[in-house]
Amino acid sequence: MVNMSTEKNKVNIGVASAKGFVTRKKQQEDVNALIAGVLAGKKTALARAITFIESTSAKHQEFADTVLKACLPHSGNSIRIGITGVPGAGKSTFIEALGNLLITKGHKVAVLAVDPTSSISHGSILGDKTRMGSLGMNANAFIRPSASGGSLGGVARKTRESIVLCEAAGLDVILVETVGVGQSDFAVHGMTDFFLLLKLAGAGDELQGIKRGIMEMADAILINKADGQNIQAAKEARIAFAKALHLYPQKENGWSPKVNLCSALQNTGIVEAWQVLEEYFTHVKENGSFQENRKSQHIFWLRQTIENRLKDDFYGDALVKAYFDSVVKKMHSGAISSFQAADELLKIYRSK
Ligand code: GDP
Repeated sequence: MVNMSTEKNKVNIGVASAKGFVTRKKQQEDVNALIAGVLAGKKTALARAITFIESTSAKHQEFADTVLKACLPHSGNSIRIGITGVPGAGKSTFIEALGNLLITKGHKVAVLAVDPTSSISHGSILGDKTRMGSLGMNANAFIRPSASGGSLGGVARKTRESIVLCEAAGLDVILVETVGVGQSDFAVHGMTDFFLLLKLAGAGDELQGIKRGIMEMADAILINKADGQNIQAAKEARIAFAKALHLYPQKENGWSPKVNLCSALQNTGIVEAWQVLEEYFTHVKENGSFQENRKSQHIFWLRQTIENRLKDDFYGDALVKAYFDSVVKKMHSGAISSFQAADELLKIYRSK
């Protein structure tokens, strides 16, 4: 089984170098060995490289950048599938069933997660269960819990970079799971090629309580737990969702989202779910929207990164910090509006 614990995977290069035991040359050799390990598809190397990515140490970030740069030309050759659903919808059970199916078809599967709650509550929603046992033990699967990067932006960035490394390691189906807390659905949608919404039937009005925007993002809705006494309710939910999907304008890529039933527990409907995915990928690869979507995702992340860096730079600026409270005071006294206050602070920032 892949070693899932980031603790156990702790990389000791930085520590050793701080003590002066390891020369720059040795560090370079270590990084080169790590890169070679990732490119050779070694899961231990991949896990260690992701640990670099997740580390907050500047030294490790430097290593992570080197590894990423080396891996980038070998990345991209995969399909990336985002999977969302409320806790208990059956995501891990489904991922295990789908992952095992994909492996029998000769694929190599990565399971990553975006769970911004993992840094707030130590028992994260996605991370604290013994999950996907049989898939985790498979040599052709790599499972990594969500990074705990503080903000959603931090976690999402680390997951995006982990995707690059997984692809460079030869994993060709990347499943990115999220709990759909806050904006995490949007983040995962923005880093994947296909977005799957896992739903439960039988809890009253199926369309109630569904998060705004999620239906527009879904390329397929899978109603899970369509087994036992739930089957009828699941069928009704399917009709309700199919009707609701019709109300949305057609997607730019020409794909009409599908609604299917499955039972992850009983392993029914999984083959059909994969068929929907195959159909989708054939469609978007043929009409060019697969590459177009990835390109616009790159632009989105580029802009996002610039915005975040500028914001950090602005709020971290010593001069801005020094003047911030007095400008706020002026604003509260009614002397200036919030827009003028912003202008003043920006002027201070630019005056450097
Ligand atoms: P997650 O929180 O979305 O990852 O959900 P889990 O995969 O952990 O599943 C939550 C619970 O639902 C577990 O007890 C599963 O055994 C159960 N479960 C998952 N899929 C199915 C299914 O298709 N049918 C039934 N009856 N139970 C399921």
